[in-house]
Amino acid sequence: MLQQADGHGSGSDAHGGEALREDLQEFLGGEALLQQLDDLTKVNPVTLETVLRCLQARYMADTFYTNAGCTLVALNPFKPVPQLYSPELMREYHAASQPQTLKPHIFTVGEQTYRNVRSLIEPVNQSIVVSGESGAGKTWTSRCLMKFYAMVAASPTSWESHKVAERIEQRILNSNPIMEAFGNACTLRNNNSSRFGKFIQLQLNGAQQMTGAAVQTYLLEKTRVACQAPSERNFHIFYQIYKGARADERVQWRLPEGAAFSWLPHPERTLEEDCFEVTREAMLHLGIDAPTQNNIFQALAGLLHLGNTRFADSGNEAQPCPLVDGAQCSVGTSALLLGLPEYHLLETLRIRTIRAGRDQQVFRKPCSQAECDTRRDCLAKLVYARLFDWLVSVINSSICATPDSWTTFIGLLDVYGFESFPNNSLEQLCINYANEKLQQHFVAHYLRAQQEEYAVEGLTWSFVSYQDNQPCLDLIEGSPVSICSLLNEECRLNRPSSAAQLQTRIESALTGRPRLGRDRLSPEPSFIVLHYAGPVRYCTAGLVEKNKDPVPPELTRLLQQSQDPLLKVLFPADPEEKSQEEPSGQNRAPVLTVVSKFKASLEQLLQVLHGTTPHYIRCIKPNSQAQAQIFHREEVLSQLEACGLVETIHISAAGFPIRVSHRNFLERYKLLRRLRPATTPGPHGPCPAGGQSEWPPRAEPAMLRGLLQDILHALPAPLHCGRTKVFMTDSTLELLERRRAQVL
Ligand code: ADP
Ligand code: MG
Repeated sequence: MLQQADGHGSGSDAHGGEALREDLQEFLGGEALLQQLDDLTKVNPVTLETVLRCLQARYMADTFYTNAGCTLVALNPFKPVPQLYSPELMREYHAASQPQTLKPHIFTVGEQTYRNVRSLIEPVNQSIVVSGESGAGKTWTSRCLMKFYAMVAASPTSWESHKVAERIEQRILNSNPIMEAFGNACTLRNNNSSRFGKFIQLQLNGAQQMTGAAVQTYLLEKTRVACQAPSERNFHIFYQIYKGARADERVQWRLPEGAAFSWLPHPERTLEEDCFEVTREAMLHLGIDAPTQNNIFQALAGLLHLGNTRFADSGNEAQPCPLVDGAQCSVGTSALLLGLPEYHLLETLRIRTIRAGRDQQVFRKPCSQAECDTRRDCLAKLVYARLFDWLVSVINSSICATPDSWTTFIGLLDVYGFESFPNNSLEQLCINYANEKLQQHFVAHYLRAQQEEYAVEGLTWSFVSYQDNQPCLDLIEGSPVSICSLLNEECRLNRPSSAAQLQTRIESALTGRPRLGRDRLSPEPSFIVLHYAGPVRYCTAGLVEKNKDPVPPELTRLLQQSQDPLLKVLFPADPEEKSQEEPSGQNRAPVLTVVSKFKASLEQLLQVLHGTTPHYIRCIKPNSQAQAQIFHREEVLSQLEACGLVETIHISAAGFPIRVSHRNFLERYKLLRRLRPATTPGPHGPCPAGGQSEWPPRAEPAMLRGLLQDILHALPAPLHCGRTKVFMTDSTLELLERRRAQVL
């Protein structure tokens, strides 16, 4: 609890406490209390049980948004709720004099950020961090917020683009279907799961109009192109072209109806995300013309045929692996669609060239069957990842405002939430590492700022201790030795190391670190990281290889020789002719590992976020069957823990989120001082730390000081008076507002 430094209580037992309770009961309406509690910090007491009950009651009553102090909790309705996102409702939140007094909604957060940018003397950039597990509603929420800003921050001008007169905000919205077609896929947990992280910066000019946007993506799950888990699908775009191509395109892209592709599992499933026309339209609007689109889709069809290229075992190390029956046709079609000579493609897939020895002699070595498969998959991943990055850069050049046409921005971050599966690998390590960073940002920005402000204002801080996750970050990314540094070192040394060796290395180098654990019962080599959201067991098998993400140079060189106009752009020839074969030993370029690239982009993101006022939306999935009206308490509970919400609620409840300067407070509530005679001190006590001499502050004119004293003494509410500000809870604010309305 927060207490005043002079020893006066926080208010509940002091004079006026009963009246406050009565007022709140009346205000909140008795029996329907839980359903109507729109802030989890108001449940009493704040326990997991009460929080869960409150969320459940609200969910069953079709109330999907609830505040949790500074965070908004968004429950996935799993059914269309069009009235919740109508333009009329957007306008209502935008027009409200105090949007925070309306029902909790993402539009409250949207409007708040918009006003923050606008109203401050010194513009402060804003950011909204949307988090939650897969299928919880992050992308939906970001999309709705983008629509909200597109409406409230509409630009006045329009411009011609491919004969379609359109506004910039429409373009920005059009980036969504493109990114989702190429970056989303149907998984076990979400039919439209984003397989990349996204930060979109909505750029505003001095008049608060949206003049552009910039998108940054993180860690596309490119392995999905060549490998899909059972019951999961490839990226939507492959199904879109497969199902939606016109007759002439089917001929050109060699996609006859009913053709089977091993990289296209479950084509029979019908999803609304399979709509090709929406993607084509959006691409056109963003300046990707029909011939370029044709090139893109043709290359994708080329990848599908590449996936049908299968090798058999040659039975002889000196012989290249033969193709299985029918695969010759696939490799030929793939080469044709990718603009490559067939023999060259086949050669590159099954023969490795190495330079070795003092004189750097060139050796050609046939690959094993498994190596051929790896090279084929690698080629597909390489093309797809470059294509995705190129699309993002095209989108950016189409929607980004010129530097002089924007002054502030609102950033929307839609990133994968914390993940813990029975087997976790490098992907989960990166995702959970990002979540640790974001959690630290949250703690740093919200909790520490709050704590420091109380200290400056002379209020003593003694609330629940919060978990500092720095030790966990030290374990993952710290220097000189951490999990990341060890993984990178293994990549640099480029030596064969077994999973068991890596496990031993991690354990011995990091022994004694507080957040490292070990699962002695684990059947395979692994280590445990005790994340703020729970322990996660990472399997060491394949970690180094995944971190290295090696691309044989012959593959890149092959693609650089493509005659296809799109591939020429994606794989431009090297400016100076580099060595033609894979160098060995000392001549290797420094390895830029997956982890080091991810770390760099994460640090860049955090730097941007640090320059903004952050807001948080935690999306929660009420059940894993994606069914409306079903609330699984266990599942919700683990998500509340994973996003640190329980702790947040505790802290918010103990703290005083509303803070108003003495002057503003007086201005608004001076008429309340006549309500009750100032005979006994109010629950807030007479003054904060420093004694009577410092409060009311000397800086305030004597008359103001007197007024402030009078009001505070007249109010039966837990208010705390700092040196320059009055602190209170949301419920006190509501009470004050009610009293004020009665008096007026
Ligand atoms: P995430 O990005 O967190 O993985 P999504 O935003 O893709 O999850 O949401 C998963 C699915 O849940 C959506 O495709 C949609 O069907 C449903 N959904 C999410 N939020 C809402 C909402 N506010 N209203 C209706 N349906 C929603
Ligand atoms: Mg998503």
